[in-house]
Amino acid sequence: MILVLEKGVTQQQVERLKDLLRSEGHMVKEIGGVEEQVLGIVGKMYRESSYYGALPGVERAVPISKPYKLVSRELHPAASIIKVGDVTIGGDRLVVIAGPCGVEDRKTTMDIARVVRKHGAVLFRGGAFKPRTSPYAFQGLGEEGLKILSEVRQETGLGIVTEMTSPSQADLMMKYVDVVQVGARNMQNFELLKSVGRIGKPVLLKRGLSATIEEWLMSAEYILSEGNDQVILCERGIRTFERYTRNTLDLTAVPVIKKLTHLPIIVDPSHATGIREKVSPMARASIAAGADGLIIEVHTQPEKALSDGPQSLYPEQFEQLMRDLYAIAPVVGKQVDFAYLDKATIMTRPRGESKAPATVVYSGVPGSFSHKACMQFFGNEVPLRNSSSFREVFTLVDSEQAAFGVVPVENSLTGSIHENYDLLLEYDLKIVGELTLRIKHNLLGHPNAPIDGLEKIYSHPQAFQQCREYLEKNPGWDLVACKDTATAVLRVKDGADPKEAAIAGEGADQVAGMAILKEGIETNPRNFTRFVVISRNESLPGPQNKSSLIYSVSDKPGALFETLGIFSRYDINIVKIESRPIHSRPWEYMFYVDLETDITEESRKHILAELTEKTEFFKFLGSYNKGARANP
Ligand code: PEP
Ligand code: MN
Repeated sequence: MILVLEKGVTQQQVERLKDLLRSEGHMVKEIGGVEEQVLGIVGKMYRESSYYGALPGVERAVPISKPYKLVSRELHPAASIIKVGDVTIGGDRLVVIAGPCGVEDRKTTMDIARVVRKHGAVLFRGGAFKPRTSPYAFQGLGEEGLKILSEVRQETGLGIVTEMTSPSQADLMMKYVDVVQVGARNMQNFELLKSVGRIGKPVLLKRGLSATIEEWLMSAEYILSEGNDQVILCERGIRTFERYTRNTLDLTAVPVIKKLTHLPIIVDPSHATGIREKVSPMARASIAAGADGLIIEVHTQPEKALSDGPQSLYPEQFEQLMRDLYAIAPVVGKQVDFAYLDKATIMTRPRGESKAPATVVYSGVPGSFSHKACMQFFGNEVPLRNSSSFREVFTLVDSEQAAFGVVPVENSLTGSIHENYDLLLEYDLKIVGELTLRIKHNLLGHPNAPIDGLEKIYSHPQAFQQCREYLEKNPGWDLVACKDTATAVLRVKDGADPKEAAIAGEGADQVAGMAILKEGIETNPRNFTRFVVISRNESLPGPQNKSSLIYSVSDKPGALFETLGIFSRYDINIVKIESRPIHSRPWEYMFYVDLETDITEESRKHILAELTEKTEFFKFLGSYNKGARANP
């Protein structure tokens, strides 16, 4: 039952109401709403909704229409993010869990762990208790296997995901494991579900071999009803009449689950297909379908694996898959981060000389693309601060009031954001990272407002440019420029005028409770913005494979050519070159150059020296990770 409380209800009244409901045997959850204060109640003994609607402080009571309650979106509209150490599942960064089917021996397990971590896995999988179809097949190493997994965590920093097959293993799970997996065969083992619920650690709940989505969610409900709401669902294929693949991967489950529940969902393409060569295509499709991550079997010698060798990827296949996911993720508004685990500690480690607080500053308001870029780069847990201009971002980072800043520098449709190029020249800060975000624009207005009744459209000028073709079809609209897209949405919301709309990205509709009047209005869907991360003293982990420079050359024939010759001679790929006017010297230019190399590496230092000699002005902006490759 969902109880919408009266406006102006006091905290004391709410507490009294909660006490009453609890005394009647209900579990009570406060649901954070922007507009309304809402309580969700779940329990075995329900009265008529009219009883609850008449309780003091309650405006109305709405029954939850589904048989599952705690897992339903009705009770918990916002997506849940599950934390496993430094890893967040269901947030802006995709999680990939990888490892062998079973833990076989210390050396093999450790070898696999090192290789999957190197290529971007953030959690390690491996069974110590294997539920096998045949009693004669390898059953797992038991506690010995769990000890090996603990060593893996110790050495690689990867959290451990392993299966629990009986409530009698609860103590072992408490001792050794980060995420408790409930296997497909045990999805409806209700005693086991209650037991994992009580353990209180995150649970990976696989879909049963022939379970409907509703049965699967009811199993999740068991775990939540024990007070553990850290459940990650895992689609791993269901049994159909098709025998070519081991199971039939039901990818439809991903969007269906997203709609029905707030819990995150990942996909296991290994058990779904059972065939190595089918794993990567289905993994890519899963991410495209909107999954929050993947769990994949990888083995250094699959032909010798004691279980599921034929579906285990070779390390090189896993590496290639991760690169593909890196390319696909931004299209669906997510990110694969090869330095995920290393970055997770940035904000908590002692930070040397730096006095700056562990904060990331961006320009704009929550819900803006810059805000999203921060969370995709640093994770959903990072302390953020927003500012009112790009200059303020630079000033706050320069004065060490924030350790990092995130600013957009170029867009694939409209080109460079010149203000930030000029600020990079003016301030003495370093570029320490970069990130590409897909920019999908929607027309947002008041619910049910007709598009042909619109008169005024608010947005950022860049967004107007990126939606030029759509706007040209509506020449009567008055375009009003705002500081950023999220501010534009708030203005329209506050104006409460159905003749006004805003152009902004996905998620902005939820932030402000607005409706999407028209989706995807950018001129070309291949619309990406590149952001850079700036800092004064901080560095970021991970290999540096890109460098940025600014320089000017003397006003004589061949001067620029000579500098470019240096890059050619040393086989350095230039990925971008752009000229910007020098403010005090009309018709003279600075060149902004991005190189595909770490120019600060010891063996390349002489190149920097040569460049300094051939240029009039030279400024090194930083070496950083372009991300497309995992650790070498
Ligand atoms: C496993 O993950 O190794 C496993 C046994 O999976 P499932 O329960 O999905 O068959
Ligand atoms: Mn397996």
